[in-house]
Amino acid sequence: MVILIEKLKDAFTSKKLICTNCGKQIAEGETIIAKITMPSEKEMIVSKLDNAIARTADAVLCQRCH
Ligand SMILES: [Zn+2]
Repeated sequence: MVILIEKLKDAFTSKKLICTNCGKQIAEGETIIAKITMPSEKEMIVSKLDNAIARTADAVLCQRCH
């Protein structure tokens, strides 16, 4: 139960979406390419999209880097 709460808290704590190539923070309206390994249903996080991508993606490329 505690682990579940920690996991939920973690999913809602926003993590900045940063380009894995240049380290720039992804801005609103920007086109990005993200390499994502499909998580299992159990591990899928419910969150804001930018946060979900930041936590799930193996690589994220900003507009300048792709
Ligand atoms: Zn970049």
